[in-house]
Amino acid sequence: MIQPLKIAVIGATGRTGSRVAALAATDPRFQLVARVDRARAEEFEDEAGAVRVAVDFTTPESCVRFAAACARRKTAFVTGTTGLTVVQRAQLAAAAKKVPVFAAPNFSRGMTLTLHLAAEAARRLPGYDAAIVETHHKGKKDAPSGTALRLAQAVREGRADDAAVPTASLRLADVVGEHALTFAGFDESLTLAHRAESRDAFARGALEAALWTVGKKPGLYDMLDMMGLR
Ligand code: NAD
Repeated sequence: MIQPLKIAVIGATGRTGSRVAALAATDPRFQLVARVDRARAEEFEDEAGAVRVAVDFTTPESCVRFAAACARRKTAFVTGTTGLTVVQRAQLAAAAKKVPVFAAPNFSRGMTLTLHLAAEAARRLPGYDAAIVETHHKGKKDAPSGTALRLAQAVREGRADDAAVPTASLRLADVVGEHALTFAGFDESLTLAHRAESRDAFARGALEAALWTVGKKPGLYDMLDMMGLR
């Protein structure tokens, strides 16, 4: 019988991490060894050595600290935390030299396919104006969302230029996550839109990413790698 994957969930009392922990606890493919949150962060240094992978949904500051702890303990690290600075992204990349690190601003498969389509649309619609509108709940700390930043990057990659993509961020009630990317020409427009109906879309994707990441070579991976869309 295949042994269940020993996993830690960091941010396990948060909006997203609590769903990851709940799904992992009832999935026979996983053994949930540690639920980490702000109150028990110190204990993770020991716990990191007892799991094969840690899944993080916390804050940029703690994300990079946990990534470094995982690198020291040779534990794979999966993070959905957004809003990392350039320096924090470099710290994540440093951890990825020692262990596999999977970092995705959005773990939903539908949104990942949207990123792929965004680059393709930008390539095929030269001269069209592109703009993004993203909507999230009022508790979200970063704006624009990490997903909106990634969508803008996909447009730039498709166009092969560095031009900014105008982005509007709305913070309304308890909206889980909505993104719409519009390409406007003079006679028509095309909109790619995605709506996450529940945080389980992210939680399930993060658990799939955990299974996929364990055993990979050190390096930085994302959903496009997992879905074979690179
Ligand atoms: P939240 O505020 O509901 O939860 C944050 C959790 O982090 C809490 O459990 C808290 O205890 C823990 N935490 C904070 N600081 C800590 C520390 N120093 N040590 C240990 N634990 C600490 O947040 P949320 O809405 O779940 O979002 C968390 C992050 O995930 C945000 O950056 C958000 O943008 C991102 N997010 C990503 C995706 C995705 O698919 N990639 C989806 C949803 C949210």
